[in-house]
Amino acid sequence: MAERNLKSEIRNPKLSRLVPALLGWFAQNARDLPWRRTRDPYAIWVSEIMLQQTQVKIVIPYWNRWMRELPTIKAVAKARSEKIHKLWEGLGYYTRARNLQKAARQIMEKHSGTFPHDFADVLALPGIGRYTAGAIRSIAFNQPTPVLDGNVIRVLTRVFGIAENPKMKEANGRLWDLAELLVASAAKHLAPRNSRRKEAHSKIANSQSLLTSAATIAGNCSALNQSLMELGALVCTPRNPQCEICPVKKLCVAFCEGRVSELPNLGKRKAATARRFVAFVAERSGRFLVRQRPAGAVNAHLWEFPNFEIHPNPSSSRHRSAHYSRKNSQSRLTSAATIQESDWEIIRAAKSLGISTLVLHPLCTVKHSITRYRITLEAFRVHLGGRSSTTPKHLGTRRARPSGKNNVWLPLAKLDSLAFTSAHRKILQTLNSKTT
Ligand code: SF4
Repeated sequence: MAERNLKSEIRNPKLSRLVPALLGWFAQNARDLPWRRTRDPYAIWVSEIMLQQTQVKIVIPYWNRWMRELPTIKAVAKARSEKIHKLWEGLGYYTRARNLQKAARQIMEKHSGTFPHDFADVLALPGIGRYTAGAIRSIAFNQPTPVLDGNVIRVLTRVFGIAENPKMKEANGRLWDLAELLVASAAKHLAPRNSRRKEAHSKIANSQSLLTSAATIAGNCSALNQSLMELGALVCTPRNPQCEICPVKKLCVAFCEGRVSELPNLGKRKAATARRFVAFVAERSGRFLVRQRPAGAVNAHLWEFPNFEIHPNPSSSRHRSAHYSRKNSQSRLTSAATIQESDWEIIRAAKSLGISTLVLHPLCTVKHSITRYRITLEAFRVHLGGRSSTTPKHLGTRRARPSGKNNVWLPLAKLDSLAFTSAHRKILQTLNSKTT
């Protein structure tokens, strides 16, 4: 922050009132989360990475399992890639897990296995940006490094009435400055008054929890940053924020000026795009065909059933000729039938299995979202003749890449041990339920 701005912001009386209000509220209201019972930077780092793009309630069991299986940086560095992917299976954004392992190896090599204190060293680790570095250093080491994630942006834009889009460079810079100023003020602020400290400790004792000790024992930098995140998660929510119970409502520009619903100004969102895929669960002699996604692709190294993208709109129909039967569905189609274009695409995709006539058994439809894509994945079961050692000639070639194990036939029991993408894990679960 420029010196002149910093001085003028420091003179802002709002800041001196905001910090104690946030610290006091956090001491009373922080959630009991497992990673708040420790100051181990490794444990906090894992939680911060898992929490990116993922809700707290989903992360808790993943974090517990990860910490049980890989309790140290050394254990992560030495773990097999399969184990890393399996422990992350279902959390999505798997690059996060791979970067965690790369960073753990870097820490073993450059820092003798000890998580670095220095900001530049933390920032140099793969998968760690300014936000994560700030979060780890403030929470684990009580350093006055700012954090700015979606929750903090929402709180700060509303409290300070910032109307500019926070993604824009200038507004974003100002938000970082404010976050820095707040955590720096917290570092200078006296710890919560004794009465409040006692209250927090008695709450801990009563709940058998070490949780709220984060607010008093870890220090004000840790507590201040977490209070901003916590307020954004619990009170200052995107829709229907609970302003009436908010500890900073009297200081909040958006609340005082009736602009809460306008902020933050995130601009127009890109419209969601529909995408449609068809997957084939091919079975031959009791084995199922799966493939591993190649390095560099989305969900790299995860497993899936062979699948193809087709036209997203299933409504247009055309006259086609086909040897095709979609069993158990309303529209059993045979030669020269009227079929929908999307069905025709399914036939074309199925033909890439190398088989000209086949019967498809609808297995399930999985709907999910990735970023702005709304994805529909239709899975069909296909029984193939012949030996499972023979892969149909063209299967998978459309997506075959130099790396990744394409086209492996495995018995159902073995599939469970592989790390599947979330959508294909659901297909596998349906397959399991219908096969047993
Ligand atoms: Fe958010 Fe309302 Fe609190 Fe302002 S008063 S910080 S808008 S919850």
